[in-house]
Amino acid sequence: MSGLYENTINQIQTAATIMGLSEPVRKALSEPQKIHWVTFPVQRDNGEIDIFEGYRVQHNNWAGPYKGGIRFSDNVDLDEVKALSAWMTIKCSVVGIPLGGGKGGVKVDAKSLSKTEKEKLTRGFVRSIADYIGPDIDVPAPDMYTDGQVMAWATDEYMKLKGGSSKALGVFTGKPLEFGGSAGREQATAQGGVYVLTKYAEMHNLDPKNSTVIIQGFGNAGANAAELLSAHGYKIIGISDSSGGLICQDGFDVAQAISCKVEFGSVMKCEHTTLNYDAIKSQNGVKQVTNEELLESECDILFLSALENQVTIKNAANIKAKIIVELANGPVTPEADAILKGKTEVLPDILMNAGGVTVSYFEMVQNSYGYYWQPDEVQTRLKAIMEAAYEKVESVKSTYNCTYREASFITALKRLENLANIRGVFS
Ligand code: GLU
Repeated sequence: MSGLYENTINQIQTAATIMGLSEPVRKALSEPQKIHWVTFPVQRDNGEIDIFEGYRVQHNNWAGPYKGGIRFSDNVDLDEVKALSAWMTIKCSVVGIPLGGGKGGVKVDAKSLSKTEKEKLTRGFVRSIADYIGPDIDVPAPDMYTDGQVMAWATDEYMKLKGGSSKALGVFTGKPLEFGGSAGREQATAQGGVYVLTKYAEMHNLDPKNSTVIIQGFGNAGANAAELLSAHGYKIIGISDSSGGLICQDGFDVAQAISCKVEFGSVMKCEHTTLNYDAIKSQNGVKQVTNEELLESECDILFLSALENQVTIKNAANIKAKIIVELANGPVTPEADAILKGKTEVLPDILMNAGGVTVSYFEMVQNSYGYYWQPDEVQTRLKAIMEAAYEKVESVKSTYNCTYREASFITALKRLENLANIRGVFS
């Protein structure tokens, strides 16, 4: 399998060729503008000092400050962070918000950290990158294994270093509500995807009440998506996390499944959270499945909300879902995309998960004004942005007769090209 960054650049190149993107723009977007690589010490609870490695990649800032999450994960390396940073540039441009693309990460097994160690790691990383970020320069946010609490520590550390003016609050987004966060940020990634899917369903005569959904990943994006989708009438017949998955044709009671996962730490312990427990217990209707089996199970819509590279050349031919919704970044490889073409409609990450960064943008706006919106104002604005982006992508798709992924890239690249021309970025 080729590297993640190479995949991302290939996606840009494919769209660039279809639309005839100018050569300088194509070249400029093929490399990040800046890469920061840092190492820093953290004292473990047992007194030992470990040295950690982190990155902040600043891909492009033509549209505005670099923007994108920070992840704590064992898989973090430069190739991954570069790819994720480029996707952020494209993502912000698909939804037309005035932000560029960046991404960061620390290579660490996040599950091995105690709360104290996680706080020290966060503060250590912020001290290492503090000179490169800022509310007008580069604004990180949550991503895998980072959350509102991590953003609160990060913002506090930045303010201790750089001064605690209220303006500095906007240096990180995804903060808790009590500390400059925006209403709706937690659910925003899933909510944005559900707004788009709802419009898609209207346009393509997809009836939620007759549609089954399997959700891979039960973190922030997956669990919130499950909740929103079941409220829309979709039947959630599969759930999973890193320990494995469960399938039940009668569907899951999502609220129960979420509290079960919180209580026991794994969806595998949540067999009792199906909608019709008594009946299926006797028929043995809840099936434990591996991650591979889950992905290949029969369903109408497969939500990928776990990791990158989940549908690949190895399993793409076995995918039975009619639609794939990418809530994670990069869960379907380009080789898999080619196999799925004409068989499974892929609604791509750069559109479907852009709700997260959109509400991050709202958070920056609210921080700069020091005035906070009610939840329904956030929802109205998010819905309008997501639906407009989707409608634009639909129209580009029919103009170029291409896939949703290609159409989303073309939409984004056209905006970036236009911006490059207006600004005269090459002068
Ligand atoms: N980590 C999220 C993403 O990949 C959100 C980024 C942000 O809010 O800046 O889109």
